[in-house]
Amino acid sequence: LTVLGIESSCDDTAAAVVRHTPGSTPEILSQVVVSQDELHKNFGGVVPEIAARAHTEKLDFCVEDALTEAAINLPDLDAIAVTSGPGLIGGVLSGVMCAKGLSAAANKPLIGVNHLAGHALTPRLTNQIEFPYLMLLVSGGHCQFLIVHDVDRFQRLGGTIDDAPGEAFDKTARLLGLGQPGGPHVEAAALKGDPARFRFPRPLLDRPDCDMSFSGLKTALLRAREAILAKKGGLTRKDQADLAAGFQQAVTAVLLEKSRRALKIYLELNPVKPVFAVAGGVSANQDIRAALETVCAESGVGFIAPPLSLCTDNGAMIAWAGLERFQRGLIDDLSLSARPRWPLDQTSPAMLGSGK
Ligand code: ATP
Ligand code: FE
Repeated sequence: LTVLGIESSCDDTAAAVVRHTPGSTPEILSQVVVSQDELHKNFGGVVPEIAARAHTEKLDFCVEDALTEAAINLPDLDAIAVTSGPGLIGGVLSGVMCAKGLSAAANKPLIGVNHLAGHALTPRLTNQIEFPYLMLLVSGGHCQFLIVHDVDRFQRLGGTIDDAPGEAFDKTARLLGLGQPGGPHVEAAALKGDPARFRFPRPLLDRPDCDMSFSGLKTALLRAREAILAKKGGLTRKDQADLAAGFQQAVTAVLLEKSRRALKIYLELNPVKPVFAVAGGVSANQDIRAALETVCAESGVGFIAPPLSLCTDNGAMIAWAGLERFQRGLIDDLSLSARPRWPLDQTSPAMLGSGK
């Protein structure tokens, strides 16, 4: 099976072709991502109108490039998959319209994919793993623990009740005068810092559930920075490094402890080959990866962290999720609509009907 995947739910326009023959490893035949970072960088965030217009302009080229790179023509495809939510409505609509056009023109099945399901199914694209597996989706906009029971069945164990860690990394970078996106810069600064100098809060650890909170951490960092500024008028390299290290250690500690709890719930299902997988940009962080790997080792659970290019937004994850749905006969038609909000535990009408 060969499927084209289209992604335009945030600030990256992406298209990719994935091929899978049952019994063999899936193949990414092409992967095209056009970033909009330059367009939004002076606005301090993604501007929805600018994003939607850019997606409309870039989508056709992205799809064309993805087909050319894969050396495939539209008629050779088995299906066309597209992110139909959640995300910025203008972008999602552009993608859905583009996919509908292709589907109608080439008479190919259309498959709407939940963007978060795309992230959550990525470990099955890179590794041969069975359901159910545990997933920590940790990105610029999300942070949640999920048990992935099937392509269409996700059990949310808990997640952030306010900010996502990626947002907190970006904000921290801004406060410390480092570049954007903040994650890699904060990580690099933290390597040279002393994490013990500042003790930042680790909220909700007193609660037994898998919920997390990261907004207090931001405020604590702001206060620590202000205290230094009041005393010395500026931040030295050492201050920057120590603040970054203290911040990163607090995020890691929260993710580590809550992962332990999520694993406990997951292991109660007695999976044959237990696996804990991560996805999302923040999972690129080495400190966080190492911590999660340790927790997995403690309990004899396999740990999977896909390459960063597949952890951040991309078309291959949508093509793959579409392919998995196609294999199960989960196909949409031209009435497919864009859903700006779409919690993962309500993946599709098919699933709701199953009473799960
Ligand atoms: P979502 O997928 O939730 O809509 P998004 O597309 O913005 O959000 P991603 O592209 O998955 O999220 O990830 C981007 C985030 O990952 C940014 O906030 C960035 O700072 C963070 N990030 C990237 N690399 C690292 C790193 N090494 N350490 C920590 N955070 C990182
Ligand atoms: Fe994403």
